[in-house]
Amino acid sequence: MRHIEKGLPPSGVPETAKASTTDLETATGARTAFDQLDKAAVRAALAEEQRYLCAFCMRRIDPEGKDAHGQAAMKIAHRTPVSVDPRAALQWRNLLGSCDGGQRLEKPYRTCDTAQGDSALTIDPTRVESVARLRYERRDSREGLFITGDDAALRADVVDTLRLNAPYLPAARASAWKAVQKKALDRFGQYGKPGWRKYVEEPPKRIGRKAA
Ligand SMILES: [Zn+2]
Repeated sequence: MRHIEKGLPPSGVPETAKASTTDLETATGARTAFDQLDKAAVRAALAEEQRYLCAFCMRRIDPEGKDAHGQAAMKIAHRTPVSVDPRAALQWRNLLGSCDGGQRLEKPYRTCDTAQGDSALTIDPTRVESVARLRYERRDSREGLFITGDDAALRADVVDTLRLNAPYLPAARASAWKAVQKKALDRFGQYGKPGWRKYVEEPPKRIGRKAA
């Protein structure tokens, strides 16, 4: 999980939140208001803020991608679910772009927004001090990089609620990390931290859209 610097919401989001017809006191009212948003514009803005990575597992997200059923593959997640606090349903800081999280797979394979469901989170990817309390570790007998943290609430969020150590994620994370180090070496000719820092701080590559 990496820190997400939130920008301004796309037009329509604050207007809908403030509209006299919008009812954010109830979950039903908040869901109705949320469904009035231009979801494509929201997905595009979230993906750009997040450098086209899922806010939780950091797999790639494509704001225009469709799944096998023609539905948007990228999900708009509420860090605090609408059922927990409807007043936060349209707050830009509360909206995060998530991968599909295996929503059509069986429960052990679900992660991210799909796994979160109606659980509130303590972890907040929009706050640098929150994300800084997580770390990745190798575990002797098992392949991969496992996410964890010393704070029990944060650890429960990433391990149990968001399921970021679900079967295939630690191995995928380790191979992505290896690829980053290799690309940093190829591009900057530097091993270790100096090389990968330069690489990860490069401007994001846009996907799913053609350059003008
Ligand atoms: Zn994800």
